[in-house]
Amino acid sequence: MKEHFKILIIGGGNAGLSVASQLISKKSNLNIGIIEPSQKHYYQPAWTLVGAGIYDINKTVRNEKNYIPKNSTWIIDAVTEFMPSENKVLCKSGKEISYDYLVVSPGIQLDWDKIKSLKETLGKNNVSSNYLFEFAPKTWGFIQNFKGGTDVFTNPPTPIKCGGAPHKIMYLACDYWKTKGILDKCDVHYVSGGAGIFGVPEYAETLKEVLKKFEIITHFNSNVISINGDTKKIVYETQATDETIKQNLSTLDAYCYTIAPHDPNAETKKVSLKFDLCHAVPPQSAPDFVKKSPLADSNSPYGFVEVDKYTLQHSRFPNVFALGDCTNAPCSKTGAAIRKQAPVVVANILSVLKQQKPTASYDGYSACPIPTQYGKLMLAEFDYDNKPKMTFPFDQAKPRWTMWKLKTKILPWLYWNKILKGTV
Ligand SMILES: Cc1cc2nc3c(=O)[nH]c(=O)nc-3n(C[C@H](O)[C@H](O)[C@H](O)COP(=O)(O)OP(=O)(O)OC[C@H]3O[C@@H](n4cnc5c(N)ncnc54)[C@H](O)[C@@H]3O)c2cc1C
Repeated sequence: MKEHFKILIIGGGNAGLSVASQLISKKSNLNIGIIEPSQKHYYQPAWTLVGAGIYDINKTVRNEKNYIPKNSTWIIDAVTEFMPSENKVLCKSGKEISYDYLVVSPGIQLDWDKIKSLKETLGKNNVSSNYLFEFAPKTWGFIQNFKGGTDVFTNPPTPIKCGGAPHKIMYLACDYWKTKGILDKCDVHYVSGGAGIFGVPEYAETLKEVLKKFEIITHFNSNVISINGDTKKIVYETQATDETIKQNLSTLDAYCYTIAPHDPNAETKKVSLKFDLCHAVPPQSAPDFVKKSPLADSNSPYGFVEVDKYTLQHSRFPNVFALGDCTNAPCSKTGAAIRKQAPVVVANILSVLKQQKPTASYDGYSACPIPTQYGKLMLAEFDYDNKPKMTFPFDQAKPRWTMWKLKTKILPWLYWNKILKGTV
């Protein structure tokens, strides 16, 4: 059976539903189809709070059907193939669905298999990850029951959703252990594929102080390749000098905020670290069906959808737009970014529907709410140029209780009641 929609949206997550709701509120007679396989919708930004023991995991999931906008059609299926030259997609059920305009928003893929032994040990042996609904509560269990030892928090070298999530949980864990009086028995390591703690210098300064306060040892430009829960050993690859590695491995050295010198021509070494507790974040890339499709950016190993970073229109297929975690726009992949991307995609689709040029432009805005301890949060907001774009009339690089309240109370409410309904 063949179906056709004026606008077909792939993925009914944060991005897909925001665009669908906003399009309908602007033009209610559009024939919109949303292909989304999941009966459940997740508010992922709260998983960090679940991992820190201050948010109920059950409050992060709701029924998708309650958020599909009226006047749109939900197709409960998964896309397996894009055929943009023929303006159609193929679904898992075998159904072909055609469109006039396509919005691509199926999120990002978690590549657990890229870290050897991780999948087998997740949720056991004090190894967890806030990146999955079922494991975020386990993170809290492990943090709460920890009695001291070596803690490793990992961050992959690939683009990921919420670049702050790998270290947010680390600060909260350290603060919890400090309050419990065991932080001095903890040897905390941050093993990251990034070159520093944060890309925006104004916010990085604050985080460097937090790293120093908790005496966290950082290993930058490091690629974790194996996490074994049975042997309690993590292995990472690095091109850092022997001296830097030695310095980083020394628990006595608190030069935690040094950015490791990186020489791309240097020899790659494997370093192993014993751990007692590990919070792991997997490498990420575009979903495989996007990666292998004509929509993918062939210059990128991650296979993200190739868009104009300002208009979010596909670079080669003008009736295709993409937003959210699946695109190659060089912004930070967050729900906050989607809040600014969705109106741009909507305005540009409405323009092309009228045979006009897409002129609405996205400036790369993203936000990362980083809790630096329980009750204090730094709301980092920035754009494509890594320039701060602060919303509030105060210095947002300073962690504040009001921003903590924003993250823990106001943003979840806004998400379910306004953002998904297209009214913010
Ligand atoms: C631990 C964690 C903490 C985070 N913290 C924050 C934060 O503090 N602030 C913030 O702004 N953001 C945060 N984020 C990021 C935020 O959740 C994502 O950026 C956002 O959800 C991306 O929206 P999306 O629509 O692109 O993808 P998603 O919301 O993931 O939705 C993608 C949808 O596509 C569907 N789909 C998948 N495959 C197919 C297919 N084949 N066919 C059709 N549909 C498909 C999926 O079922 C899903 O519903 C966090 C994420 C995590 C995991």
